[in-house]
Amino acid sequence: AELYEILASVTSGNYLKMNKIESKKNQNVVRWLLSLISPYKFRVSMGILFSLLLVILSLIPPYLLKIFINNVLLTKGNSYLFTEIILVLIAVYSSVVVITVLQNYALNYLGQKLSNELRVRIYEHVNKLSLGFIENFQSGRILSRITTDVGNTQWFLIWGIPTLLTNLVTIIGIGVIVFFMNPFLGIFAILPIPAIIIGTTIYRRKSRLKYHKVWRRSADITSLLTDTIPSSLIVRSYANEDYENSRLRRLTEELFSSQMGVIRLNVSWWPTLGFILSLTTVIIWFVGGKEVISGTLALGTLVAFITYLSMFYQPIQNLTNVIPFMQQSFTSAERILEIIDSEPEIKESDNPKKIDLKGEITFDHVWFGYDPLAPVVKDVNLKIRQGEKVGIVGQSGSGKTTMIKLLLRFYDPLAGKILVDGYDLKDLDIKNYRSQIGIVHADPTLLYGTVAYNIAYGKQNASPEEIIAAAMMSKAHDFIINLPLAYDTHLGERGNRLSSGQKQMIAIARALIKEPKLLIMDEPTANVDSITEGEIIKSLKEAMQGKTTIIISHRFSILNYVDRIIVMDNGKIVEEGKREELLQKKGKFYEIFKGDGNGTREIYKET
Ligand code: ADP
Ligand code: MG
Repeated sequence: AELYEILASVTSGNYLKMNKIESKKNQNVVRWLLSLISPYKFRVSMGILFSLLLVILSLIPPYLLKIFINNVLLTKGNSYLFTEIILVLIAVYSSVVVITVLQNYALNYLGQKLSNELRVRIYEHVNKLSLGFIENFQSGRILSRITTDVGNTQWFLIWGIPTLLTNLVTIIGIGVIVFFMNPFLGIFAILPIPAIIIGTTIYRRKSRLKYHKVWRRSADITSLLTDTIPSSLIVRSYANEDYENSRLRRLTEELFSSQMGVIRLNVSWWPTLGFILSLTTVIIWFVGGKEVISGTLALGTLVAFITYLSMFYQPIQNLTNVIPFMQQSFTSAERILEIIDSEPEIKESDNPKKIDLKGEITFDHVWFGYDPLAPVVKDVNLKIRQGEKVGIVGQSGSGKTTMIKLLLRFYDPLAGKILVDGYDLKDLDIKNYRSQIGIVHADPTLLYGTVAYNIAYGKQNASPEEIIAAAMMSKAHDFIINLPLAYDTHLGERGNRLSSGQKQMIAIARALIKEPKLLIMDEPTANVDSITEGEIIKSLKEAMQGKTTIIISHRFSILNYVDRIIVMDNGKIVEEGKREELLQKKGKFYEIFKGDGNGTREIYKET
């Protein structure tokens, strides 16, 4: 049925059409792979040259065997030829050793270089991609592309291509020699080839599907692990260990059954192929043997013929063997290209301006939505003077954090403009601009490293004094000196050793250390107790001196220190003014903070 299907699709032209679309895509991948190896032209050509030399050398001994039997052994003489053959054999095998070493060295060198290059390229590109891409794409999938897919692509370039090449050359070389030696026997030798090709095609189609299944199942397992192990606090808190365990067990069972699919296919195909080939050898023994007996074929020629034949089918098997892996690693290359080809949504202008940030900000009729059809920032107009301190309040989901992301140019407005110091944000050099901003994000992400490392992350080459000064300003110093190794204490993954409030204080220090002209804080003290917060505010007041400051906060006390409060509701600015004015207005702000009016009660507090 399979065979019929293939024949039917070949004759109907569907097969070709399908292959055409694929081949277009393949061309891109091939072009890209070629561009990857082009800097290493010399080593690549050496690797290929050595591989071909090895093939040619491997073809010599059986031919010597033929001469040895026919012209030395059977004629019982010619001692000159005898020593000559032995010497040539020694030369051949010594060259094989030397060339194998050189070939392996060249190809492995190339392999390491390429995978390093690929890894760095993907990482560099990922760093350019918009946050939206990373948020949508799942970081786990990007990770697996940097690890597994790079390995597969490396294998493809370094071993896949040479294997393909040398085996093809061996097959052609042996085919030519065999026909040259005895055309009649040669015909028998090529008889099984159609069967091999058709069988291989069927095998390939099946194995591709089955390998894909295996790959998907293992990806499921990886994402379950990378998802639940870091979140084991949640898993255990909700007593869901058994649920997760059984989920993993079910997934591994699914993986097992898809792997068994591959195994069943492999264990049935390879012996079948072996049988076809053995049968051919038997036929050659039979036909050739009759010829030798009747005297039309020299014994040495038959022995050499059979030796060549044994070398003939091995490469064909190698090829079929290597092809599923080629397929797999080609898919890997495709997946890497998919990332590298994805255009960053945030594009720098052709001539990005570097400015000395002063901190004057204008939102001019700004519209934005993560989904363009569902705007979350709607026609916002806002002007912040240089050195002004602005507080932003609003219910959860009203678009406050999104405004900050727009201001940092993690996203571009769908309509309207954001101006910084009078320049359109799109015309500025992004890195230069961001490097002059001190930012405390709502979720204070710390990096794997020490306290000092995390604070100094805001300013390359910060001195220990600067680090301590920044920590004192954010009131982090007091708890840091009580840590086991003070500033040298390792925080573990994502700063897990600290409380949320402590993380926030370190994040504030990290923002303050570079003495930014523009300070942006998104709920900086949401998890800090009110006594500590009071202390932080006092020192922040000093730190904010002369800096444009935007602070999202629902802490009533903090709002006392800003020049102006912006109230957001459902993506719009609905109120604006001083704290007490806004309270008296009895509008949205009052609704959020309705209390006794003396600024001590906070009914709504976002976490
Ligand atoms: P706030 O900071 O005021 O609580 P946000 O600016 O974080 O609000 O979110 C505004 C709206 O945008 C919310 O409805 C939220 O669900 C949505 N949103 C936030 N981030 C994303 C995102 N990365 N992708 C899609 N929607 C988002
Ligand atoms: Mg927010």
